[in-house]
Amino acid sequence: MFSSLLIANRGEIACRVIRTARRMGIRTIAVYSDADRDAVHVKLADEAVHIGGSPARDSYLSIEKIVAACKQTGAEAVHPGYGFLSENPAFAAAIEAENIIFVGPPVKAIEAMGDKITSKKIAAAAGVSTVPGHMGLIADAEAAVTISRQIGYPVMIKASAGGGGKGMRIAHSDAEAREGFERSKSEAASSFGDDRIFIEKFITEPRHIEIQLIGDAHSNVLYLNERECSVQRRNQKVIEEAPSPFLDAATRKAMGEQAVALAKAVGYTSAGTVEFIVDKHRNFYFLEMNTRLQVEHPVTELITGLDLVELMFLAAAGEKLPLTQEEVQLNGWAIESRIYAEDPFRNFLPSTGRLTRYHPPAENLVQPPFIRNDTGVAEGSEITTYYDPMIAKLCTWAPTRIEAIEAMEDALDEFELEGVGNNIPFLAAVMGQQRFREGRLTTGYIAEEFPNGFSGVELDADSLTHLAAIACTSAFALDHRLYPTTPEPRAVIIGDQRWDFSVRADGIEYWLTAPDGKKLLVETGWKPGNTICIARVDGHLHHVRIQRLTSGFRLRHRGADLIAKVLLPRVADLMPLMPVKLPPDLSKFLLCPMPGQIVRIDVAEGDIVEDGQTLAIVEAMKMENVLKAEKRAKISKIRVQPGSVLAVDEVILEFEAV
Ligand code: ADP
Ligand code: ADP
Ligand code: MG
Repeated sequence: MFSSLLIANRGEIACRVIRTARRMGIRTIAVYSDADRDAVHVKLADEAVHIGGSPARDSYLSIEKIVAACKQTGAEAVHPGYGFLSENPAFAAAIEAENIIFVGPPVKAIEAMGDKITSKKIAAAAGVSTVPGHMGLIADAEAAVTISRQIGYPVMIKASAGGGGKGMRIAHSDAEAREGFERSKSEAASSFGDDRIFIEKFITEPRHIEIQLIGDAHSNVLYLNERECSVQRRNQKVIEEAPSPFLDAATRKAMGEQAVALAKAVGYTSAGTVEFIVDKHRNFYFLEMNTRLQVEHPVTELITGLDLVELMFLAAAGEKLPLTQEEVQLNGWAIESRIYAEDPFRNFLPSTGRLTRYHPPAENLVQPPFIRNDTGVAEGSEITTYYDPMIAKLCTWAPTRIEAIEAMEDALDEFELEGVGNNIPFLAAVMGQQRFREGRLTTGYIAEEFPNGFSGVELDADSLTHLAAIACTSAFALDHRLYPTTPEPRAVIIGDQRWDFSVRADGIEYWLTAPDGKKLLVETGWKPGNTICIARVDGHLHHVRIQRLTSGFRLRHRGADLIAKVLLPRVADLMPLMPVKLPPDLSKFLLCPMPGQIVRIDVAEGDIVEDGQTLAIVEAMKMENVLKAEKRAKISKIRVQPGSVLAVDEVILEFEAV
């Protein structure tokens, strides 16, 4: 085994790799950019090298700088993590040229699998089932239309060099094929510097199920079961689980064996993932192979009891895998929620800023349900626009799927994160949905379940009453500190609902009595200053994030975000008389929906536009977003030009009714 390792990555995955290396007694070397000077991975490593400016191309994507850091520190091996240079064959070759061990597959395997068109051809030759489609390049938009018609709509237009859900469009018609081709090509050119496009059949009601592989240099390749990653938005995974609620043992075995056949065909070693798209009849088709450690590998570790990074180290050091296919376990159920700095209330637009509070639930791998949280940030860390907006990967494991989901609900309720918009309320909402709990997933899940976007969660009547009771006991605890006398009855107002309670407290037991004599028992040890209230109300345990406001609390629970006012009844009586503040009318403006740059403006002042007509294109996070008119209107003024860099909500143009 090598004795020192440089991690050519940042964030949670750098921390994850360091953790296993440390356990195995390997000296760890981090690299960092300007923006990451104070990052967690830098502090965690035994040694750290500054490699350049904040933009990834000046640091984490610079082969030259990383090779120089290896030489400077005498690193014997390099782990590339995921993203950045992990699937770049030139990087692996440059590392090996210096006689340093690349912790990953052979250069030839990365090359063969890195390109979607090439890998699809190799897969087909190895007897792997592939998505029907055109295996060649597409010259122009007209050729795209011809080929799409031959395949039959709907089709998926893809960048051969694509990754991370970028450079990909669905088309249902000639017009969409034309537009999709142009957008994919342009996105592929700007994201991957390679604008080759191909087209395949779009599999309807698809599920994304992938097989984890591990191989060594002695021709052993094992499949470590599957992960289901169907809950996606914009073709990016959000929630993953292992095993898949959809697979039976026969399909699992067939997929596993085909994945192994493909790996053997390219002389694969190390960890890798073969992604499949599965239709509702359990027909499965090869999508692509990721020649690296996958973001969602923790769920596989939780059901197999293996450490994938350790197995990668063993394989890289030329050792034999310590287990056989028969010894691979599939035990219980694991779920991962990707916690992103993105605002679910604003169409999941990326959000940046400082984590003014970061307090994840405590990890526990001793007593089921297990909680694991892979992260690369700490309180005070800054989330910038330079890198991926993922903050943490929260995983739970339990003997059954439903127990793992329930553990996730509690863990999300306990996750304290302030300072940047984040998707925790959204994740909590999904965990609570009946369709998710029944495992009826497709990659269209989010689009189908949230057709008008996410606007928060409506709690059921009992849960609302429980939150009102918690607000009441918390107010009691606050008041009692100041005036330890028998308090007056209180009214709790949430939205337009009102509850009246009188309170009698005895240690951690609070008896709440409503005017009709109905009693409610709240048991809680909450004290003023605690940011989480753990309370049993009427026998039901709740974890509620609680924040004090003037005359009440902000309560966050299961994706709901509420203000509970706690007032004296006579004050509450006057509340309906307060004037209501109306939000300003913004319907006359086209606002920039995200921080980004205007690529194109398709209209001129004075134009009459129709519903659905393209107005402008904004590029943000390397995605081109088409902004369309929502109704017939006249363009009265254009406020920006192509190239303008806009903040969120800046006005792009003004409409006039016609
Ligand atoms: P996984 O398939 O492991 O879940 P994702 O597809 O979500 O991974 O991508 C993992 C990370 O790598 C993301 O940060 C993504 O933006 C990045 N990524 C994936 N492919 C590429 C690529 N070809 N170029 C640059 N970044 C990529
Ligand atoms: P990336 O390299 O960006 O991860 P993939 O080829 O793995 O690209 O596709 C990403 C996602 O897009 C898949 O998980 C799936 O949801 C969807 N997808 C890709 N190809 C198809 C297809 N032919 N039919 C249906 N969905 C597809
Ligand atoms: Mg993929």
